[in-house]
Amino acid sequence: DVKLTGRNGYQFFNKTMQQNAERTAYLQMEMTKALNDQGFELYFQPIVSTQNTHIAKAEILLRWKLHGEFVSPEEFIPIAEHSGLIVPIGKWVREKAIKLINQFVEQNTPIALSVNVSTCEFLNDELQHQFIDSIKSCSEQSCKTAFPFELLTLEITESLMMDQHQNIENLLIRLREWGIKISVDDFGTGYSSLSYLANFPVDQIKIDKAFIQKIEQGARHKALVEAIASMSNALELTVTAEGVETQTQLDFVKTQKVDDIQGYFFYKPMPQQEFLALVEKQFCS
Ligand code: C2E
Ligand code: MG
Ligand code: MG
Ligand code: MG
Repeated sequence: DVKLTGRNGYQFFNKTMQQNAERTAYLQMEMTKALNDQGFELYFQPIVSTQNTHIAKAEILLRWKLHGEFVSPEEFIPIAEHSGLIVPIGKWVREKAIKLINQFVEQNTPIALSVNVSTCEFLNDELQHQFIDSIKSCSEQSCKTAFPFELLTLEITESLMMDQHQNIENLLIRLREWGIKISVDDFGTGYSSLSYLANFPVDQIKIDKAFIQKIEQGARHKALVEAIASMSNALELTVTAEGVETQTQLDFVKTQKVDDIQGYFFYKPMPQQEFLALVEKQFCS
């Protein structure tokens, strides 16, 4: 019989909490080491155009192997956010993206790359300045001519736009003036109101995979995808469908005003070498 109160119940609760705290502290410490020892790796998930299934873009996804096993970003990103480590990690990811975009342009295989940005990287004026400065200096260093900012997309979440801070809006305006694209990731899963879409400087919406993966479940779920796609169109935003895994999902998405498709049906996230080979194959054949 299960006792919810009493000595045993209390001890069990306490022990779980302690184990969680120990795991968090351990991962935080290991992440600090990984940052210094090149322990992080970037994976690339190709995004195809709905029209012709050519690879036009890719999303960069952070990977971290600890003692031979991958730790899920769903576990380590929140810890990086709470500890502030996400700031140097995010900077590292963006610098890699900028260098690679430059490499693509030089070898005449222009692929756009998107990177995820945490709300925590924008929290105050100082962080915002650092953010701007690091993109600016890295793009200047890695490119002899003008850096093609239009090939860089920053994926933000709805929570960022919920923050009523004027300064975040100004930051995004500035980045867009350079040509950087702003994308709203996991669209439809946040708690935000839709009103921000009318005012906020964004270019793109990524329909969260939760919506796509329910397409088979019936008309009401299809109607939601349809509504998000047509609203985005009316606002002149481009639309990516995330998490397309099956032929049925693909067939339905193709009937919608969706520009791009990201999902296991076409490609899973892959290591850099594999991605570079794929890009080369596409452009050279
Ligand atoms: P996200 O930005 O929404 O990235 C898409 C996630 O969906 C990735 O999970 C990708 O592997 C997964 N995915 C793509 N297609 C499919 C599909 O067809 N089916 C299924 N089941 N999943 C699919 P991943 O790589 O585990 O990343 C999880 C989250 O971690 C990301 O979600 C993003 O929020 C965060 N993340 C990853 N890298 C970074 C980073 O460099 N910085 C920050 N701040 N967050 C990151
Ligand atoms: Mg993303
Ligand atoms: Mg997403
Ligand atoms: Mg996400």
